Amino acid sequence: MSNDFDHIVIGAGISGLGAAHFSARRGLGTLVLESSERIGGCINSQRFETLSGFWTEAGGHTCFNSYGNLLSILDDLGLTSQVQAKVKVGYSLWKDGQRRSILSALHPWEAIGSIPRIFWAPKAGRSVADYYATVFGRRNYRDLLRHAFQAVICQPADDYPAAALFRRKPRRKEVVKAFTFAEGLSTIPAAIAAQEGIQVRTGQGIEAIEPQEDGFRVVTQESGAIHCTHLTLAVPPNAAAALLPTGFEEARAAIAGIGMAEIETLVLVFHTADLDLLPLAGLIAVEDAFYSAVSRDFLPDETHRGFAFHFRPGVLDPEAQVTHACKVIGVGTDRIAGQAWIRNRLPALRQGHEDLVRRLDSALFGKRLGVTGNWFIGVSMEDALTRSRSESDRLFGA
Ligand SMILES: Cc1cc2nc3c(=O)[nH]c(=O)nc-3n(C[C@H](O)[C@H](O)[C@H](O)COP(=O)(O)OP(=O)(O)OC[C@H]3O[C@@H](n4cnc5c(N)ncnc54)[C@H](O)[C@@H]3O)c2cc1C
Repeated sequence: MSNDFDHIVIGAGISGLGAAHFSARRGLGTLVLESSERIGGCINSQRFETLSGFWTEAGGHTCFNSYGNLLSILDDLGLTSQVQAKVKVGYSLWKDGQRRSILSALHPWEAIGSIPRIFWAPKAGRSVADYYATVFGRRNYRDLLRHAFQAVICQPADDYPAAALFRRKPRRKEVVKAFTFAEGLSTIPAAIAAQEGIQVRTGQGIEAIEPQEDGFRVVTQESGAIHCTHLTLAVPPNAAAALLPTGFEEARAAIAGIGMAEIETLVLVFHTADLDLLPLAGLIAVEDAFYSAVSRDFLPDETHRGFAFHFRPGVLDPEAQVTHACKVIGVGTDRIAGQAWIRNRLPALRQGHEDLVRRLDSALFGKRLGVTGNWFIGVSMEDALTRSRSESDRLFGA
C-alpha cells in the first residue's frame, strides 16, 4: 500500500470527491480519507436489500441542468446520458395536521404588489427574512416562503444569508431540467470513487496533520503516516478547524465560529398498495416537529414508496417520530416495510459569512492546502463543487 500521494483529500462527500476528481483528471495520484464507513456524506440513497433493493434518498435528492460543475464530472465519467428525468409531482404544505395546497398559503395581491422589487432590492448582505419579505411581501414570507426555505435547508431560515440560497446559473438545455439516476444520486459518489487515479479509504481517524517543507504528513490510526504534496479539507467547518495544522491559526480563527444544524432524518418505506396518499414530491411543514418530508415518487416504483422525514433535532424521540410520520402519510405503523435513521448536518450560515470566507482565503493564499465544502457559496451540491473547482484551480493551476 503506497503512502505517498500528490493530493490527499479529507472527507468523501461530494465536495471532497469533486476535489479528488479534479486532481485525478490532472493526472495526480489522489487519496481520499473518510472517517465514516460510507462515502457520499449528505448524498445517501438508502437502499433496502430486503425490499428488492428499493432505495429512497435520505439527503440530497435532485440535481439540475444548471449544475455545470457536476455535469462536467458526469461528462468525464460517461454518466450524463444515464440521468433519469424526475417525474413531475408537486409539493404540499403540512399545516395544523392537514395536507393543504401550496397556493392556500399564498397572498396573491401582496405578491403582485411586491414582486417588482425583485429588480432593484439588493440581496447581498441581507437575511432571508428581510430580503424575501421585501420582494414577496411580509405575509407571504410568514405564511409560505419561510417554511419552504426551512424545508430546503432543514433549519430555521430567517437569519440565513439570502445570497446563499438561490443563484441563477446557466442551464445545459440538452440535459433534462431536474434529474436523478436509476439507483439514486449515490451513483455519483460511487462512480467518482471507482475511477482510476483515486484511492478511497473509509473508516479513517485522522490523528495528526503536520506541515512539511514539500507538503504534509497525515497520520491515521488505520493507515499510519501518509505523505502528500497537497492537501484539501472537505469536511464541515468545525471538523476543518480541528484538522487545520500548525501554521494555519489565522485560517482556523476565521472559520471557528461557523455553526452546523443537526437534522434527524427518518426514512420510511411502504408497500404501494398500503397507501391511499396520491403521489407527491414532498411536504413542507408549517410549525411542526419536522421541516420537510421528501418522497421517492419522483421515480415511481411498482411495489414500494419511500419517504425521508427531516425532523428538528431533539423534539420527538425515535418512536414518536415514526408515529408522527405515519400519521402524516395516513397509514398505520404496522404497515412499515422498511425504516432507517440518519443524522444529516448542514451549515448554519449567518450574515457576514462572505467576510469569513475572504479571511480564510487570504490565510490560505500561496499555501498547498485547500478547504472546500457546502459552507462557502451555498449548500447545494453545485455550490460545493464550485468551491472544490476553484480550490483545485488555486492549488494546481487553472
Ligand atoms: C436532507 C437534505 C436534502 C438536500 N437536498 C439537496 C438537493 O436536492 N440538491 C442539492 O443540490 N443539494 C441538496 N442538499 C445539500 C447537499 O446534498 C449537500 O450540501 C452536499 O452533498 C454536501 O457535501 P459536502 O461534501 O460538502 O459535505 P458532506 O456531504 O457533509 O460530506 C462531508 C464528509 O466528510 C466526512 N468527515 C467529517 N469529518 C471528518 C474527519 N474529521 N475526517 C474524515 N472525514 C470526515 C463526513 O463523514 C462526510 O462524509 C441536501 C442536503 C440535505 C441534508
